[in-house]
Amino acid sequence: MSPRSAKSVHYDAIVVGGGIVGVSTAYVLVRRGLSVLLLERYAPVHEHGSSHGDSRMIRFDYEENVYVEMAARAFRAWEDLAKRLGRPVFKRTGICNLAPAGAEVLETLETRLRDCELPYERLAGATFSHRFPQLSLPPQSEAIYQPDSAVLFADEVVRSLWDCVVEDGVDALTETEVASIVPAEERVEVTASDGRSWSGTRLVLATGSWTDRWLNALGVEVELVVTRELLAYFPQAGSVPHEAGAMPNVIDYHTPDPFYCVPQVRVPGVKAGCHRTGRVVEADDPEVVDDANLAAVREFVGRRCPHLSRDPVAVKHCLYTNSADFHFILDRHPDHANVVLAAGFSGHGFKFGPVLGEILAARLFDETPPVDTSLFGLQRFSSRRVLKPRTLA
Ligand SMILES: Cc1cc2nc3c(=O)[nH]c(=O)nc-3n(C[C@H](O)[C@H](O)[C@H](O)COP(=O)(O)OP(=O)(O)OC[C@H]3O[C@@H](n4cnc5c(N)ncnc54)[C@H](O)[C@@H]3O)c2cc1C
Repeated sequence: MSPRSAKSVHYDAIVVGGGIVGVSTAYVLVRRGLSVLLLERYAPVHEHGSSHGDSRMIRFDYEENVYVEMAARAFRAWEDLAKRLGRPVFKRTGICNLAPAGAEVLETLETRLRDCELPYERLAGATFSHRFPQLSLPPQSEAIYQPDSAVLFADEVVRSLWDCVVEDGVDALTETEVASIVPAEERVEVTASDGRSWSGTRLVLATGSWTDRWLNALGVEVELVVTRELLAYFPQAGSVPHEAGAMPNVIDYHTPDPFYCVPQVRVPGVKAGCHRTGRVVEADDPEVVDDANLAAVREFVGRRCPHLSRDPVAVKHCLYTNSADFHFILDRHPDHANVVLAAGFSGHGFKFGPVLGEILAARLFDETPPVDTSLFGLQRFSSRRVLKPRTLA
Protein backbone atom coordinates (compact mmCIF):
# COMPACT_ATOMS: atom_id res chain seq x y z
CA MET A 1 0.00 0.00 0.00
CA SER A 2 1.28 3.43 -0.86
CA PRO A 3 1.21 5.65 2.22
CA ARG A 4 -1.10 8.05 0.35
CA SER A 5 -3.79 5.61 -0.72
CA ALA A 6 -6.50 4.14 1.49
CA LYS A 7 -8.09 0.74 0.94
CA SER A 8 -11.57 1.86 1.76
CA VAL A 9 -13.82 4.91 1.91
CA HIS A 10 -15.53 4.07 5.19
CA TYR A 11 -13.94 3.01 8.50
CA ASP A 12 -15.13 2.11 11.98
CA ALA A 13 -12.77 4.79 13.30
CA ILE A 14 -10.69 7.60 11.85
CA VAL A 15 -7.79 9.02 13.84
CA VAL A 16 -6.54 12.44 12.75
CA GLY A 17 -2.92 13.13 13.76
CA GLY A 18 -0.15 10.56 13.95
CA GLY A 19 2.00 11.79 16.84
CA ILE A 20 2.35 9.62 19.94
CA VAL A 21 -1.29 10.16 20.94
CA GLY A 22 -2.85 9.43 17.55
CA VAL A 23 -0.71 6.41 16.70
CA SER A 24 -1.18 4.96 20.20
CA THR A 25 -4.94 5.32 19.79
CA ALA A 26 -4.88 3.65 16.37
CA TYR A 27 -2.86 0.83 17.97
CA VAL A 28 -5.55 0.21 20.58
CA LEU A 29 -8.47 0.54 18.16
CA VAL A 30 -7.15 -1.88 15.54
CA ARG A 31 -6.45 -4.44 18.25
CA ARG A 32 -10.14 -4.23 19.15
CA GLY A 33 -10.88 -5.54 15.67
CA LEU A 34 -11.99 -2.22 14.18
CA SER A 35 -11.19 -0.93 10.72
CA VAL A 36 -9.05 2.16 11.32
CA LEU A 37 -7.80 5.02 9.15
CA LEU A 38 -4.89 7.07 10.55
CA LEU A 39 -4.26 10.41 8.82
CA GLU A 40 -1.02 12.36 9.29
CA ARG A 41 -0.05 15.59 7.60
CA TYR A 42 3.70 14.85 7.63
CA ALA A 43 5.87 11.70 7.80
CA PRO A 44 5.46 9.29 10.76
CA VAL A 45 8.35 10.93 12.61
CA HIS A 46 8.81 14.62 11.87
CA GLU A 47 10.15 17.64 13.73
CA HIS A 48 7.19 20.04 13.42
CA GLY A 49 5.11 18.88 16.38
CA SER A 50 5.59 17.51 19.88
CA SER A 51 6.59 13.84 19.72
CA HIS A 52 10.02 13.98 18.07
CA GLY A 53 13.48 13.64 19.59
CA ASP A 54 15.56 10.80 20.95
CA SER A 55 14.17 10.77 24.49
CA ARG A 56 11.23 11.38 26.82
CA MET A 57 11.13 10.86 30.57
CA ILE A 58 8.69 8.45 32.13
CA ARG A 59 8.31 8.97 35.83
CA PHE A 60 6.00 8.53 38.81
CA ASP A 61 6.77 11.76 40.61
CA TYR A 62 3.49 13.56 40.17
CA GLU A 63 1.33 15.36 42.66
CA GLU A 64 -1.91 13.84 41.35
CA ASN A 65 -2.63 10.18 41.93
CA VAL A 66 -4.14 9.60 38.49
CA TYR A 67 -0.82 10.31 36.74
CA VAL A 68 0.99 7.86 39.03
CA GLU A 69 -1.59 5.23 38.16
CA MET A 70 -1.28 6.05 34.46
CA ALA A 71 2.52 5.83 34.62
CA ALA A 72 2.33 2.36 36.19
CA ARG A 73 -0.09 1.22 33.51
CA ALA A 74 2.03 2.83 30.78
CA PHE A 75 5.18 1.06 31.99
CA ARG A 76 3.40 -2.29 31.57
CA ALA A 77 2.27 -1.33 28.08
CA TRP A 78 5.75 -0.13 27.07
CA GLU A 79 7.12 -3.47 28.28
CA ASP A 80 4.52 -5.27 26.13
CA LEU A 81 5.57 -3.21 23.13
CA ALA A 82 9.22 -4.05 23.80
CA LYS A 83 8.30 -7.76 23.89
CA ARG A 84 6.48 -7.47 20.59
CA LEU A 85 9.42 -5.65 18.98
CA GLY A 86 12.07 -7.87 20.54
CA ARG A 87 14.05 -4.85 21.74
CA PRO A 88 13.79 -2.37 24.63
CA VAL A 89 11.86 0.86 24.17
CA PHE A 90 13.10 2.48 27.38
CA LYS A 91 16.08 2.48 29.71
CA ARG A 92 15.76 2.74 33.50
CA THR A 93 17.62 5.73 34.89
CA GLY A 94 15.87 6.77 38.08
CA ILE A 95 15.12 10.43 38.62
CA CYS A 96 16.39 13.12 40.99
CA ASN A 97 14.02 15.93 41.93
CA LEU A 98 16.19 18.72 43.31
CA ALA A 99 15.05 21.64 45.49
CA PRO A 100 16.10 23.76 48.46
CA ALA A 101 15.86 21.68 51.66
CA GLY A 102 12.37 21.92 53.14
CA ALA A 103 10.77 23.11 49.88
CA GLU A 104 7.09 22.27 49.60
CA VAL A 105 7.63 20.42 46.34
CA LEU A 106 9.78 17.83 48.13
CA GLU A 107 7.08 17.25 50.75
CA THR A 108 4.41 16.98 48.05
CA LEU A 109 6.38 14.44 46.04
CA GLU A 110 7.37 12.45 49.11
CA THR A 111 3.76 12.25 50.27
CA ARG A 112 2.57 10.98 46.90
CA LEU A 113 5.41 8.44 46.53
CA ARG A 114 4.86 7.17 50.08
CA ASP A 115 1.08 6.93 49.63
CA CYS A 116 1.58 4.99 46.40
CA GLU A 117 4.14 2.73 48.11
CA LEU A 118 6.81 3.61 45.57
CA PRO A 119 10.47 3.43 46.60
CA TYR A 120 12.39 6.68 47.03
CA GLU A 121 15.31 8.15 48.93
CA ARG A 122 16.01 11.63 50.25
CA LEU A 123 19.64 12.51 49.57
CA ALA A 124 21.89 15.49 50.25
CA GLY A 125 25.51 16.52 50.72
CA ALA A 126 28.32 14.02 50.23
CA THR A 127 25.94 11.05 49.94
CA PHE A 128 24.30 12.70 46.96
CA SER A 129 27.59 13.76 45.31
CA HIS A 130 29.01 10.28 45.72
CA ARG A 131 25.93 8.67 44.12
CA PHE A 132 25.54 11.20 41.33
CA PRO A 133 28.91 12.73 40.42
CA GLN A 134 27.32 14.24 37.29
CA LEU A 135 25.37 16.72 39.43
CA SER A 136 26.34 19.53 41.74
CA LEU A 137 23.80 20.10 44.53
CA PRO A 138 24.09 23.23 46.71
CA PRO A 139 24.81 22.53 50.41
CA GLN A 140 21.35 23.71 51.54
CA SER A 141 19.51 21.59 48.99
CA GLU A 142 18.06 18.11 48.86
CA ALA A 143 17.07 15.50 46.31
CA ILE A 144 14.28 12.98 46.17
CA TYR A 145 15.53 10.05 44.15
CA GLN A 146 12.96 7.66 42.67
CA PRO A 147 14.60 4.63 41.05
CA ASP A 148 11.86 3.50 38.63
CA SER A 149 11.94 6.45 36.26
CA ALA A 150 13.24 5.78 32.76
CA VAL A 151 13.99 7.32 29.39
CA LEU A 152 11.77 6.29 26.49
CA PHE A 153 13.42 6.19 23.07
CA ALA A 154 10.89 8.61 21.63
CA ASP A 155 11.57 8.64 17.87
CA GLU A 156 12.07 4.88 17.86
CA VAL A 157 8.82 4.38 19.78
CA VAL A 158 6.76 6.50 17.39
CA ARG A 159 8.31 4.86 14.34
CA SER A 160 7.78 1.37 15.79
CA LEU A 161 4.16 2.09 16.65
CA TRP A 162 3.58 3.23 13.07
CA ASP A 163 5.12 -0.03 11.83
CA CYS A 164 2.95 -2.01 14.25
CA VAL A 165 -0.33 -0.34 13.29
CA VAL A 166 0.37 -0.89 9.60
CA GLU A 167 1.23 -4.53 10.35
CA ASP A 168 -2.02 -4.85 12.33
CA GLY A 169 -4.09 -3.54 9.42
CA VAL A 170 -4.54 0.19 10.01
CA ASP A 171 -4.70 2.23 6.81
CA ALA A 172 -2.06 4.77 7.80
CA LEU A 173 -1.69 7.67 5.40
CA THR A 174 1.20 10.12 5.63
CA GLU A 175 1.51 13.47 3.81
CA THR A 176 -2.24 13.74 4.22
CA GLU A 177 -3.52 16.98 5.68
CA VAL A 178 -7.10 16.93 6.87
CA ALA A 179 -8.89 20.08 5.71
CA SER A 180 -12.41 19.46 6.92
CA ILE A 181 -14.22 17.35 9.49
CA VAL A 182 -18.01 17.25 9.37
CA PRO A 183 -19.64 15.26 12.15
CA ALA A 184 -23.17 13.92 11.92
CA GLU A 185 -25.08 11.44 14.03
CA GLU A 186 -24.12 8.20 12.29
CA ARG A 187 -20.82 9.13 10.66
CA VAL A 188 -18.10 11.74 10.39
CA GLU A 189 -17.00 12.99 6.96
CA VAL A 190 -13.31 13.84 6.58
CA THR A 191 -11.76 15.59 3.58
CA ALA A 192 -8.05 16.09 2.91
CA SER A 193 -6.57 19.27 1.46
CA ASP A 194 -6.10 17.49 -1.89
CA GLY A 195 -9.79 16.57 -2.07
CA ARG A 196 -9.65 12.89 -1.04
CA SER A 197 -12.38 12.03 1.42
CA TRP A 198 -13.45 9.26 3.78
CA SER A 199 -16.06 8.66 6.41
CA GLY A 200 -15.82 7.07 9.81
CA THR A 201 -18.43 5.84 12.25
CA ARG A 202 -16.26 7.45 14.92
CA LEU A 203 -13.38 9.91 14.96
CA VAL A 204 -10.53 10.77 17.33
CA LEU A 205 -8.92 14.18 16.95
CA ALA A 206 -5.25 14.04 18.04
CA THR A 207 -3.77 16.98 16.18
CA GLY A 208 -1.45 18.28 18.91
CA SER A 209 -0.61 21.96 18.53
CA TRP A 210 -2.95 22.30 15.55
CA THR A 211 -6.05 21.47 17.59
CA ASP A 212 -7.27 25.03 18.22
CA ARG A 213 -8.53 25.36 14.70
CA TRP A 214 -10.59 22.18 15.03
CA LEU A 215 -12.04 23.16 18.37
CA ASN A 216 -13.22 26.41 16.76
CA ALA A 217 -14.59 24.60 13.72
CA LEU A 218 -16.38 22.07 15.91
CA GLY A 219 -17.81 24.72 18.22
CA VAL A 220 -15.85 23.79 21.36
CA GLU A 221 -14.83 26.83 23.39
CA VAL A 222 -11.58 25.83 25.06
CA GLU A 223 -8.38 27.81 24.93
CA LEU A 224 -5.11 26.06 24.13
CA VAL A 225 -1.82 27.97 24.24
CA VAL A 226 0.99 26.68 22.05
CA THR A 227 4.57 27.38 23.13
CA ARG A 228 7.76 26.56 21.29
CA GLU A 229 10.09 25.08 23.90
CA LEU A 230 13.84 25.12 23.48
CA LEU A 231 16.09 22.21 24.39
CA ALA A 232 19.79 21.73 23.88
CA TYR A 233 22.26 18.85 23.99
CA PHE A 234 25.43 19.35 26.03
CA PRO A 235 28.47 17.09 25.51
CA GLN A 236 30.45 15.45 28.27
CA ALA A 237 33.66 17.28 29.22
CA GLY A 238 35.76 14.77 31.15
CA SER A 239 35.49 11.14 32.16
CA VAL A 240 32.34 11.13 34.33
CA PRO A 241 29.78 9.09 32.36
CA HIS A 242 26.47 10.75 31.43
CA GLU A 243 24.71 7.92 29.63
CA ALA A 244 21.23 6.78 30.69
CA GLY A 245 21.84 4.28 33.46
CA ALA A 246 24.92 6.09 34.75
CA MET A 247 23.11 9.41 35.13
CA PRO A 248 19.50 9.85 36.33
CA ASN A 249 16.78 12.04 34.88
CA VAL A 250 16.74 15.38 36.68
CA ILE A 251 14.04 17.92 37.49
CA ASP A 252 15.37 20.96 39.27
CA TYR A 253 12.92 23.02 41.32
CA HIS A 254 15.37 25.67 42.52
CA THR A 255 13.70 28.13 40.15
CA PRO A 256 9.96 28.81 39.68
CA ASP A 257 10.19 27.33 36.16
CA PRO A 258 11.92 23.99 36.67
CA PHE A 259 14.92 23.02 34.58
CA TYR A 260 15.35 19.41 33.53
CA CYS A 261 18.07 17.10 32.17
CA VAL A 262 17.74 13.78 30.39
CA PRO A 263 20.89 11.66 30.25
CA GLN A 264 22.52 10.81 26.96
CA VAL A 265 20.57 8.23 24.98
CA ARG A 266 20.71 8.04 21.22
CA VAL A 267 22.27 11.34 20.18
CA PRO A 268 25.45 12.78 21.71
CA GLY A 269 24.98 14.99 24.74
CA VAL A 270 22.75 15.40 27.78
CA LYS A 271 19.43 17.05 26.91
CA ALA A 272 18.52 20.09 29.02
CA GLY A 273 15.75 22.67 28.96
CA CYS A 274 13.53 24.81 31.13
CA HIS A 275 9.93 23.61 31.42
CA ARG A 276 7.20 25.89 30.04
CA THR A 277 9.41 28.86 29.20
CA GLY A 278 8.93 28.76 25.44
CA ARG A 279 7.46 31.64 23.47
CA VAL A 280 3.76 31.59 22.66
CA VAL A 281 3.47 30.78 18.94
CA GLU A 282 1.17 29.50 16.24
CA ALA A 283 2.14 25.91 15.44
CA ASP A 284 3.25 26.75 11.89
CA ASP A 285 5.35 29.81 12.82
CA PRO A 286 9.01 29.55 11.75
CA GLU A 287 11.51 28.39 14.39
CA VAL A 288 13.57 31.16 15.97
CA VAL A 289 16.14 30.46 18.70
CA ASP A 290 15.33 32.43 21.86
CA ASP A 291 18.83 33.57 22.88
CA ALA A 292 17.79 34.48 26.43
CA ASN A 293 16.23 31.06 26.96
CA LEU A 294 19.31 29.32 25.57
CA ALA A 295 21.55 31.43 27.83
CA ALA A 296 19.45 30.42 30.86
CA VAL A 297 19.74 26.73 29.97
CA ARG A 298 23.51 27.04 29.47
CA GLU A 299 23.81 28.80 32.80
CA PHE A 300 21.80 26.02 34.48
CA VAL A 301 24.07 23.37 32.94
CA GLY A 302 27.08 25.35 34.15
CA ARG A 303 25.92 25.38 37.76
CA ARG A 304 24.28 21.95 38.00
CA CYS A 305 26.29 19.71 35.64
CA PRO A 306 29.97 20.44 36.25
CA HIS A 307 31.21 17.71 33.91
CA LEU A 308 29.36 18.92 30.83
CA SER A 309 30.54 21.51 28.35
CA ARG A 310 28.36 24.64 28.37
CA ASP A 311 28.52 24.74 24.59
CA PRO A 312 25.64 22.70 23.17
CA VAL A 313 26.20 20.37 20.22
CA ALA A 314 22.61 20.90 19.10
CA VAL A 315 19.73 23.26 19.86
CA LYS A 316 16.22 22.01 19.05
CA HIS A 317 12.60 23.01 19.49
CA CYS A 318 9.42 21.17 20.27
CA LEU A 319 5.84 22.36 20.82
CA TYR A 320 3.82 22.28 24.04
CA THR A 321 0.04 22.54 23.70
CA ASN A 322 -0.99 23.92 27.06
CA SER A 323 -4.47 23.70 28.53
CA ALA A 324 -5.44 26.35 31.08
CA ASP A 325 -4.71 24.02 34.01
CA PHE A 326 -2.01 21.92 32.28
CA HIS A 327 -4.13 18.78 32.61
CA PHE A 328 -5.06 16.79 29.52
CA ILE A 329 -8.30 17.02 27.58
CA LEU A 330 -9.64 13.53 26.84
CA ASP A 331 -13.34 13.83 26.24
CA ARG A 332 -16.23 13.34 23.88
CA HIS A 333 -17.45 16.28 21.86
CA PRO A 334 -20.38 17.77 23.81
CA ASP A 335 -22.74 17.54 20.79
CA HIS A 336 -21.23 14.67 18.81
CA ALA A 337 -20.78 11.53 20.89
CA ASN A 338 -18.90 9.83 18.04
CA VAL A 339 -16.11 12.45 18.11
CA VAL A 340 -13.46 12.32 20.82
CA LEU A 341 -11.00 15.13 21.50
CA ALA A 342 -7.43 14.53 22.68
CA ALA A 343 -5.54 17.73 23.41
CA GLY A 344 -3.69 19.91 25.90
CA PHE A 345 -0.87 17.52 26.75
CA SER A 346 0.98 20.50 28.23
CA GLY A 347 4.50 19.09 27.95
CA HIS A 348 3.95 15.81 29.81
CA GLY A 349 1.92 13.49 27.59
CA PHE A 350 4.40 11.22 25.82
CA LYS A 351 5.05 8.77 28.63
CA PHE A 352 1.34 7.94 28.87
CA GLY A 353 0.88 7.19 25.13
CA PRO A 354 -0.52 3.65 25.45
CA VAL A 355 -2.84 4.63 28.32
CA LEU A 356 -4.07 7.68 26.43
CA GLY A 357 -4.92 5.30 23.59
CA GLU A 358 -6.91 3.10 25.98
CA ILE A 359 -8.74 6.05 27.52
CA LEU A 360 -9.62 7.53 24.12
CA ALA A 361 -10.86 4.18 22.84
CA ALA A 362 -13.02 3.83 25.97
CA ARG A 363 -14.39 7.36 25.46
CA LEU A 364 -15.19 6.56 21.85
CA PHE A 365 -17.38 3.64 22.94
CA ASP A 366 -18.75 5.26 26.09
CA GLU A 367 -17.06 2.65 28.27
CA THR A 368 -15.56 3.15 31.71
CA PRO A 369 -11.94 4.20 31.14
CA PRO A 370 -9.12 2.26 32.83
CA VAL A 371 -8.35 5.16 35.21
CA ASP A 372 -10.38 7.95 36.77
CA THR A 373 -10.49 10.64 34.07
CA SER A 374 -12.40 13.29 35.98
CA LEU A 375 -9.45 15.70 35.67
CA PHE A 376 -9.57 15.47 31.88
CA GLY A 377 -13.14 16.45 31.01
CA LEU A 378 -14.27 19.48 29.00
CA GLN A 379 -16.77 20.40 31.70
CA ARG A 380 -14.02 21.86 33.87
CA PHE A 381 -13.65 24.80 31.47
CA SER A 382 -17.22 25.92 32.02
CA SER A 383 -17.23 29.47 33.36
CA ARG A 384 -18.49 28.50 36.82
CA ARG A 385 -15.45 26.36 37.65
CA VAL A 386 -12.25 27.70 39.17
CA LEU A 387 -9.32 25.83 37.65
CA LYS A 388 -6.38 24.74 39.78
CA PRO A 389 -3.37 24.71 37.45
CA ARG A 390 -0.67 22.09 37.95
CA THR A 391 2.44 23.67 39.38
CA LEU A 392 4.95 20.81 39.18
CA ALA A 393 6.68 19.67 35.98
C1 LIG B 1 10.80 19.76 24.77
C2 LIG B 1 9.76 18.77 25.17
C3 LIG B 1 10.06 17.83 26.14
C4 LIG B 1 9.08 16.92 26.55
N1 LIG B 1 9.41 15.99 27.48
C5 LIG B 1 8.50 15.07 27.84
C6 LIG B 1 8.86 14.04 28.73
O1 LIG B 1 10.02 13.95 29.16
N2 LIG B 1 7.92 13.13 29.06
C7 LIG B 1 6.64 13.19 28.58
O2 LIG B 1 5.83 12.35 28.94
N3 LIG B 1 6.27 14.16 27.71
C8 LIG B 1 7.17 15.09 27.33
N4 LIG B 1 6.83 16.06 26.44
C9 LIG B 1 5.45 16.15 25.98
C10 LIG B 1 5.10 15.16 24.90
O3 LIG B 1 6.16 15.04 23.98
C11 LIG B 1 3.80 15.62 24.23
O4 LIG B 1 2.80 15.74 25.23
C12 LIG B 1 3.33 14.62 23.18
O5 LIG B 1 4.35 14.36 22.25
C13 LIG B 1 2.10 15.17 22.46
O6 LIG B 1 1.79 14.30 21.40
P1 LIG B 1 0.64 14.60 20.35
O7 LIG B 1 0.44 13.35 19.59
O8 LIG B 1 -0.51 15.23 21.05
O9 LIG B 1 1.22 15.77 19.43
P2 LIG B 1 2.09 15.69 18.08
O10 LIG B 1 3.22 14.78 18.25
O11 LIG B 1 2.40 17.08 17.67
O12 LIG B 1 1.10 15.01 17.07
C14 LIG B 1 0.05 15.69 16.44
C15 LIG B 1 0.09 15.28 14.99
O13 LIG B 1 -1.07 15.75 14.32
C16 LIG B 1 -0.68 16.04 13.00
N5 LIG B 1 -1.68 16.94 12.42
C17 LIG B 1 -2.00 18.18 12.84
N6 LIG B 1 -2.96 18.70 12.06
C18 LIG B 1 -3.25 17.76 11.13
C19 LIG B 1 -4.15 17.72 10.03
N7 LIG B 1 -4.93 18.76 9.73
N8 LIG B 1 -4.19 16.61 9.27
C20 LIG B 1 -3.39 15.54 9.56
N9 LIG B 1 -2.52 15.54 10.58
C21 LIG B 1 -2.45 16.63 11.36
C22 LIG B 1 0.68 16.71 13.17
O14 LIG B 1 1.42 16.71 11.97
C23 LIG B 1 1.30 15.87 14.26
O15 LIG B 1 2.08 14.82 13.74
C24 LIG B 1 7.78 16.96 25.99
C25 LIG B 1 7.49 17.89 24.99
C26 LIG B 1 8.47 18.78 24.57
C27 LIG B 1 8.11 19.77 23.51
